[in-house]
Amino acid sequence: MANRISVVVSQGQSENPAKRNLEESLITNLMMEPGIDVTVVPHLYDLKPDGTGMLALKGLSGNIVVLSWLFERAAHWTLDRNGIHGQVGQVELKNEAEDQSDPEEDPEADSKTETKERLVDSRVKPNRHIYCLDLRVSNKADDFISEVRRIQKERSVKIVPLGIGSAAPNQDTASSPTDEQLQRYENPTNDTALPLNGNGLQDNPISATNQDQPAMVYRVEEQGGRRWYPVIDYSRCTNCMECIDFCLFGVYGVDKVDSILVEQPDNCRKGCPACSRVCPENAIIFPQHKTPAIAGSPEVGASLKIDLSKLFGAPDDGKSAEEIAALERDEQLMAVGREAVGMKAEPTKRRSNAKPQERDELDSLVDELDDLDL
Ligand code: SF4
Ligand code: SF4
Repeated sequence: MANRISVVVSQGQSENPAKRNLEESLITNLMMEPGIDVTVVPHLYDLKPDGTGMLALKGLSGNIVVLSWLFERAAHWTLDRNGIHGQVGQVELKNEAEDQSDPEEDPEADSKTETKERLVDSRVKPNRHIYCLDLRVSNKADDFISEVRRIQKERSVKIVPLGIGSAAPNQDTASSPTDEQLQRYENPTNDTALPLNGNGLQDNPISATNQDQPAMVYRVEEQGGRRWYPVIDYSRCTNCMECIDFCLFGVYGVDKVDSILVEQPDNCRKGCPACSRVCPENAIIFPQHKTPAIAGSPEVGASLKIDLSKLFGAPDDGKSAEEIAALERDEQLMAVGREAVGMKAEPTKRRSNAKPQERDELDSLVDELDDLDL
């Protein structure tokens, strides 16, 4: 029996015909695949936290494959910021530069990164995987379809109805229900059968009851312009708080366990990537920036002790990454009628001793409620 898996197709921002053709070809091909549900959303990064797009994505249970015009890291941590958590699923379809960035090829860099505590280590490990594929790595729909099939095979677990075989909807670790339980589930003797969707969302438009059925396609329309905000890669972030001290626009904040977060994303100044240059772990991503290293390309690992200025797109005039960042910040300050501060307002490290505290599921739930801004 095939295993249902959710595939999200995040559309490009422009009407570029080549991009649209690839997206539509993918959707058409995915519809022929057994055990797949497809959700088509506008560009992932532009979705509003409380919009229909994110709501639909939050309703997806189990493992997810995300096809978007973003680097893998950018897509993963954009979802994470919106409460859609998952372990990073390893994909095999990537461009050559990414393959070359394998940390195993640089044992020195690897040993540097291992010693630091990352924010992700203090979080409850999600019980599902999210596989992010960058649509720019191939112009052939077949390449992506093959990778989706491979992932579907890799996650060869059965969907366990809520209440059968496991107290929590954990598709990776739940014990399989007995044949008798499955038969009772498929042929209920009353009308109170629980939905297949592990989140218990009865109105999830993409849940299906027959795992061998061809794909159901759910298209989400959402109006809204392009957005610009930083996305934190928590697998790199050490909670040093340099970004919160550097940004003078109130974009960053801390949650209830004193972990850094992007609190007011829309306060960020369009086009400004300054804080990504001062983050010592290269953990801040601006997914739409033209410079790959800032947009989430894996070519720069965390904690590399090299001059990143050029890699981060700084002009070749001898300025350090910090100097460039200060200039970019001044430009934005002056654009809103404030005074330039230059290097005077360097990070004060006022919170640099903040240690990430253990986060439990209740903390995560409270954060998600905060995000809903009820
Ligand atoms: S600067 Fe901000 S994002 Fe970067 S490691 Fe420090 S706290 Fe994390
Ligand atoms: S890019 Fe500029 S405005 Fe945006 S969060 Fe960073 S420092 Fe603040």
